[in-house]
Amino acid sequence: MKVGILKEPKDEARVAMLPEAVKTLISWGAEVCVETGAGQTAYADDDAYRSSGAEIKQRAEVLTESDMICGIQALPLEEISKMKPDAVLLGQMGALFNPELTKFLIEQKRTAFSMELVPRTTRAQSMDVLSSMATVLGYKATLLAANSLPRFFPMFMTAAGSITPARVLVIGAGVAGLQAIATAKRLGATVFAFDVRQAAKEEVLSIGAKFIDVAGATEDKAAGGYAVEQSAEFIQRQKDTIHEHAQKADIIITTAQIPGRKAPLLVEERTVHAMKAGSVIVDLAASSGGNCALTQPDQTIDINGVRIIGVGNLAAELPQDASKMYGKNYLNFLKLIIKDGAINLNFEDDIVLGTCVCHAGEAKNSRIAEMIK
Ligand code: NAD
Repeated sequence: MKVGILKEPKDEARVAMLPEAVKTLISWGAEVCVETGAGQTAYADDDAYRSSGAEIKQRAEVLTESDMICGIQALPLEEISKMKPDAVLLGQMGALFNPELTKFLIEQKRTAFSMELVPRTTRAQSMDVLSSMATVLGYKATLLAANSLPRFFPMFMTAAGSITPARVLVIGAGVAGLQAIATAKRLGATVFAFDVRQAAKEEVLSIGAKFIDVAGATEDKAAGGYAVEQSAEFIQRQKDTIHEHAQKADIIITTAQIPGRKAPLLVEERTVHAMKAGSVIVDLAASSGGNCALTQPDQTIDINGVRIIGVGNLAAELPQDASKMYGKNYLNFLKLIIKDGAINLNFEDDIVLGTCVCHAGEAKNSRIAEMIK
């Protein structure tokens, strides 16, 4: 069985597997071919892949010769058509939000797995690209904010006077939010955070931040530890609380998301206008609608001295470690679908079934099946 690794599109600096992951895959009995230059932006050159035992090929060869392609971004439809008919395609293709691609894959009777669909269960944790990339996002969001702030993060007592620590407000304390808090704490800021899940409170307190309580949040055990949509009254109370805290904050990092839905709008336009000039908002939910009313996806805008950074593909800005984590997630997932060096799909396994977009002309993931009805 031959596994292909392609060079990602121009705006993507990560690669699905670095040479060390390729080496492990080869030790399992697979052959691996890598498109020339695939690892360049993640600082892995063709020679490093060759030393791991991979062949270096042109893109067209990788596409047409591989039995399995592991990537990150979705492939264009015309390239999917060039793959072997029974080859398996893996990537983070956003299948739930890309009906055109999903329908095409089903019509073409392709076998495709979309890594953002990995069930968020304890057993699947080591394969969960959303979590590993959220760690990258939270870390980079704080660094981005620190870089844009016209002030220090830590407190200083110097002969040239005292500097008070920066005040950071993190909205949403999931994987990304907790990493943003931890990074801001390491840099010496005073950090406040809140979330609608009570479980998040303990985690926030354990890393030394202060938790802001807003009473009356709705939680649902059936959501598997995730946030659910809140009532209009609660969201208004949250907005008012944020409005109050935002006026004292130097930085707001927003990460609030609800799986499969538009991100909740929590930072209103009036709040941005009430913030101090020089303060910074980093909106990690920009691609799913934004937590701030004025966020523009992939853009930084300035509203009366308040900068709002609508974060794009921030994981690509830490390409080496992000690719390393991605590769590890892939290897853990591939262990489930490769047996004795050959592809072996067991749809009795909830992780294999849940991650599969389609196989043999049939949608496999239940939400995908629902979407294409
Ligand atoms: P996410 O990216 O979907 O959401 C980010 C955060 O926003 C969450 O903490 C959520 O509660 C919060 N949020 C949503 N609406 C909000 C609102 N109106 N106001 C404030 N906050 C709001 O979530 P995530 O970070 O991927 O994960 C959330 C939880 O699930 C975490 O506890 C995480 O540890 C757990 N998790 C478990 C697994 C697993 O077991 N495999 C994998 C991933 C995450």
